[in-house]
Amino acid sequence: MAEFIVTAPKPRARVQAMKEYHPPLGCRDALRLDFNENTLECSPKVREALAQISAGSLTRYPEREPVEAIVAAHLDLKPEQVALTNGVDEAIHVLFEAFLDTGDELLLPVPTYTMYEVYASATDARVVAVQAADNLEFPFDRLIAAITPQTKIIAIANPNSPSGSAATRAQLLDLALRAPHAVLLVDEAYYHFHGETVMDLVGKVSNLIVARTFSKAYGLAGLRLGLLAGPIELMRWIRRVLSPYSVNSVALACLPPALNDTTYLNWYVSEVLASRTDFEAALDTARIRRWPSRANFILVDIGARHAEFVRLMRNAGVLVRDRSSDPGCDGRVRITVGTRGQMQHAAVALNSTIAALRAGDKAQ
Ligand code: PMP
Repeated sequence: MAEFIVTAPKPRARVQAMKEYHPPLGCRDALRLDFNENTLECSPKVREALAQISAGSLTRYPEREPVEAIVAAHLDLKPEQVALTNGVDEAIHVLFEAFLDTGDELLLPVPTYTMYEVYASATDARVVAVQAADNLEFPFDRLIAAITPQTKIIAIANPNSPSGSAATRAQLLDLALRAPHAVLLVDEAYYHFHGETVMDLVGKVSNLIVARTFSKAYGLAGLRLGLLAGPIELMRWIRRVLSPYSVNSVALACLPPALNDTTYLNWYVSEVLASRTDFEAALDTARIRRWPSRANFILVDIGARHAEFVRLMRNAGVLVRDRSSDPGCDGRVRITVGTRGQMQHAAVALNSTIAALRAGDKAQ
């Protein structure tokens, strides 16, 4: 058949110019400190809900609205203010598709979550990236200075990844007020570890949209569950673009028990916060520079031998994430924080890896 094909169909020029994004998954049967997931398991109440899913129920299309109403009530919002999505990644994609047009600008502090730039690159908007200083704190003044009449979306991961730093509520509110012509997306993927939110401002600030995921503290990354919460006027446009069936019925069945099991959620979060303190102390003892974190991960400075560090940690059974190619992050590695037992194991691997690297440095 090949001789009949003259030229293969080409996608839009924008898509041709897009970079391929392959998260380094694969062979992850080790301690998973590489993707900021829950490192253990989801709530037992979710397991019970999974066991009750009947074969017959899978023959039906998923119905999102009743679960959206439950989630909205949980967040003290109206059902029309909340849209469930196939993870926050779909939420970002749909928001950008709905709002970013030719000539528009997406304003971002960098380094930040990779998928903002990936999805923006599929639109005709321009990405305006504001580099954080070496301390990786939220570059508030420079973001304010970068707002233009073309700014259409400002995307802020709060806390941010890979830095772990956070913007204050006052800074976020100020950004929203100074760019009333733009959507301010506050991505609260790591909210539970930070404990501060602007969710209560949804519907009160006309350009604020908040995202949350169930992939982190709730331990449901495999089910793909996220949400957007915003004023009804904005959510209407988002619903036009969002597939009515993108959140599957298994995920929908698991969401209410996940939300209700606050005992499990609180336990997991307190475990992570305790082990973050312990692991920070281990990093300090090992004299490894680290950035303060408000999330379930810590960014560390390994220096020129970052790739070797990641490889040696993997050999010791611990997966960590090289963030060296992130803007301003040369030599830096991100380590997810899991439970206390897991992080004790990680600290042992860290110490032997650092000792091996330093012995190698001395030998040279
Ligand atoms: N936002 C941020 C800031 C993240 O770090 C991540 C996960 N790495 C996501 C969104 C994606 O979340 P989800 O699994 O819900 O797509």
